[in-house]
This record gives sequence, structure tokens and C-alpha cells, in this order.
Amino acid sequence: MDERRMSHACILSAPTAEEGLRMARRLAQEALCERGGKQPCGRCAACRKVLSDIHPDLITVRRLTDDKGRLRREITVDQIRAVSDDAWVLPNEAPRKVYIISEADRMNTPAQNAALKLLEEPPNGALFLLCVTNPALLLPTVRSRCAQQNSAAGEEAADAESVKLAEGYLRAAASGDRAELIRWSFGQDSLDQRQTQALIEALSQTVTDMLCARRDSLGLSRRQLAEIAALAARCRDYLRVNTGAKHILGLLAADTPLGSGNRG
Ligand SMILES: [Zn+2]
Repeated sequence: MDERRMSHACILSAPTAEEGLRMARRLAQEALCERGGKQPCGRCAACRKVLSDIHPDLITVRRLTDDKGRLRREITVDQIRAVSDDAWVLPNEAPRKVYIISEADRMNTPAQNAALKLLEEPPNGALFLLCVTNPALLLPTVRSRCAQQNSAAGEEAADAESVKLAEGYLRAAASGDRAELIRWSFGQDSLDQRQTQALIEALSQTVTDMLCARRDSLGLSRRQLAEIAALAARCRDYLRVNTGAKHILGLLAADTPLGSGNRG
């Protein structure tokens, strides 16, 4: 058995939720394949069931939708508690159960604490695959319980111009003054779609660096940084469905959590 089969939890970092899910399905196949080789055969009933997402021992947790059919922003503690309960029930047909948590970096803090408890005392044989686009949003205690794997694509370095823009935005957020953010937003109204996309990528990377203490956080609290990272993820989703640049800038001006000013 190779190492991945042994480890009970793995964080899969990918640039998009779809890519993360693809990586997780591949590992789930590896864990559930009836031939039990190093590589999944891709042909046995288990492999095929995994691919069509109908394997009874593969459980995928996703963000729920609200009563208006919109995706909720977070994965909740109830969803993780349901996983904990289920993980103690014996598998249906495979030798083990596999749990994929798609967008695990959207678990809120109570959900992450519930996940931590589960990872600290994992039921025998259960495998947990946590897909993330931003591993820094996971609690360090959760990260320390998991093996980590990055997608081959990796992250591209943000261009200097976009990083500068992102820094301007973060300084405005750190000022604790909404008017600063609105001024910043109006100042960027010449950005086109592609430049806005680059800005959001740069913002996401800069915030990750700040959360990992690779860069000065300009007095922004960890909580605020985590919320900004979540906001950036939302903007990325919106851009993917061609939401206009102006709308994104407006969102950044209106929805950014404000700091307490220059106290720190
Ligand atoms: Zn197979």
C-alpha cells in the first residue's frame, strides 16, 4: 500500500474548485478500486461508480443552496457533524469510506473545529479529502493533521502592477474608513475585465502571504484577512460568470470588512 492509502486525510490544493474535485475523485478511485493496484484501473465497477459519483461509500460534501437556490457562502458545522456521524457507520460495499469536502476552505470556524475533532480521532479506514483553493484559510491545527498535495498546474505569480493595486485596496481596508474604500474603487474604474481578474488573483495571493506571515499585514487582523480572502473567492466566482469589472469593484468597496483603523 502506498502512503496516500495509509494517510487518513489529505488537503488537495488546486486553482479552482473543479480541479480540486477532479484530483479528489482520482484519489477516491485509487482508494476504492476493486483491483487494489497502485493506480486505479478505471474499469472496475467501483472505479466507474466513483467517476459517475454514485459510489455508496464515496460521500461528497458541497456548499448547500439557500431557499432562493443560491449557493451558501460557507460549509456549516451541521454538514461536518453529518460526516462525523456517517463515518462511524460501516461501508456499504468497499473496504473503506471516502469523504470529499469540496471547497473545504469555505468551512466556517465551527465547521473546521468539528472537522478537527474528526481528524484527531478518525474512524477506522475512513479517508478524508479536503479540496481547497486557499489552504491558508484552514486552521493550522487542521492543516497539521493532513498530508498536502498541490495540483501540477500550481499558482502563477501575480504581475507587479496587480499586486500594487491589491496593496492599495488592502491599505484602504486597513484604514477602517469605508470612504477610503469607495475612493479606491472609483479610482480603478478604467480596469477592464482581464485586469480585474488579475487584481483578484493578486489580492488572493497577497492575502495568503499575509495570513502565512510571509508579508506585513498592514495592521489587518487575521479574521479580517480571512474574510477578505473569502470575498476574493466570491469575486473570482462572479468573474467566472462574466460579472462586469465595475460590479466587482463595487462589491470590494461595499463588502470589505473594515479594520479598526491604525490601532495596530
Ligand atoms: Zn478499479
